[in-house]
Amino acid sequence: MMRLPPFAYRAARTVDEAVALLARHGPDALPASGGTDLYANMKQRLFTPKVVVGLRPIAELRFITFDPQRGLELGALATLTDVGRSHAVRTHYSGLATAAGSVSTPQLRNMGTIGGNICVDTRCNYYNQNLDWRKALGYCMKKDGDTCRVAPSSPKCVAVNSSDTAPALLALDATVHLAGPSGTRAVRMADFYRNDGMFAWAKQAGEIVTKIVLPPPVPNTRSAYVKLRLRNSFDFPVVGVAAALTLDGDGVCRAARLVVNAVTSCPVDVAGASVLVGTRLEADALEAAADAAFAVAKPLDNTSATIPYRKRMVRVYARRALEAAARGDLG
Ligand SMILES: Cc1cc2nc3c(=O)[nH]c(=O)nc-3n(C[C@H](O)[C@H](O)[C@H](O)COP(=O)(O)OP(=O)(O)OC[C@H]3O[C@@H](n4cnc5c(N)ncnc54)[C@H](O)[C@@H]3O)c2cc1C
Ligand code: SF4
Repeated sequence: MMRLPPFAYRAARTVDEAVALLARHGPDALPASGGTDLYANMKQRLFTPKVVVGLRPIAELRFITFDPQRGLELGALATLTDVGRSHAVRTHYSGLATAAGSVSTPQLRNMGTIGGNICVDTRCNYYNQNLDWRKALGYCMKKDGDTCRVAPSSPKCVAVNSSDTAPALLALDATVHLAGPSGTRAVRMADFYRNDGMFAWAKQAGEIVTKIVLPPPVPNTRSAYVKLRLRNSFDFPVVGVAAALTLDGDGVCRAARLVVNAVTSCPVDVAGASVLVGTRLEADALEAAADAAFAVAKPLDNTSATIPYRKRMVRVYARRALEAAARGDLG
């Protein structure tokens, strides 16, 4: 059995207290929400913070509100169960409800939060291993070593972003709100991620996510999320694809968004999905958008399944995501 390394737990009761605790302990501290990712990684000695700042007692961050004019606001501590079951999310942002409901297991969704999910650590077969395994191999650039085992000539880590909700939130144009030592700020989801497995977020030291805001629902917009995983009962995505489509009264597509995740260090917004605009989502138009997703996806040998299989599945799952959005499916 793997045990947690020793650490001090400091519970924060307000956002200000959390920010002050993180500032006081600097690089020795990490925040924990549900802890479902952080504590597993601490057991593997991927993180050994001296202080864990517990955000769970911060009641002001556990909420979901919806207003047709103002949109949806998700407190960072809203659990994935709450997000997946929310009537407003299921009715107006169905791709997000499906994505939240597809994260790991019911128990982990009861603990895991939306704020923690968008900050889930990037993953790699050479990294998500116990200390003895990594030591025997000689470590890697992301933790304790200096070379990337996947791409030895790469100057940066290429571990993948495996969040299920990140692509759904990006497809729905979400904004992330942060609080830190320099005050509060808002960052568009599109600017929140970096294509770097070690420095994957535009978060500054000591900043925490406080809420995620989605714009008011656009009439006739439907969204969907589909996910390929090795075990359908629960697993991280091998490929995750979110789609959002706006159709007019005649069934003509007015806006299209397609976001692919789990193939690079950040969710990939597929610009080529715009080929759908002006079409009635005929088969050849859907195929062209799926081809665009295939073209931009660049999986490497760092997660389950082979590179050619994952790349091929991007096209298949992009097409499925678009078809599900067009039908208005709710997973
Ligand atoms: C067996 C198993 C299967 C899993 N399967 C999936 C899956 O299919 N899909 C998926 O997406 N995830 C999966 N996960 C990962 C994890 O359970 C989820 O991503 C979960 O949503 C993380 O949320 P949390 O609140 O528990 O985050 P935590 O573990 O508390 O935190 C995760 C990271 O974010 C940081 N953090 C937490 N809250 C904040 C905040 N408010 N502001 C800034 N930083 C913060 C922490 O320091 C940590 O680095 C799995 C985990 C396990 C153990
Ligand atoms: S991608 Fe390379 S540097 Fe990053 S975790 Fe994997 S082996 Fe390590």
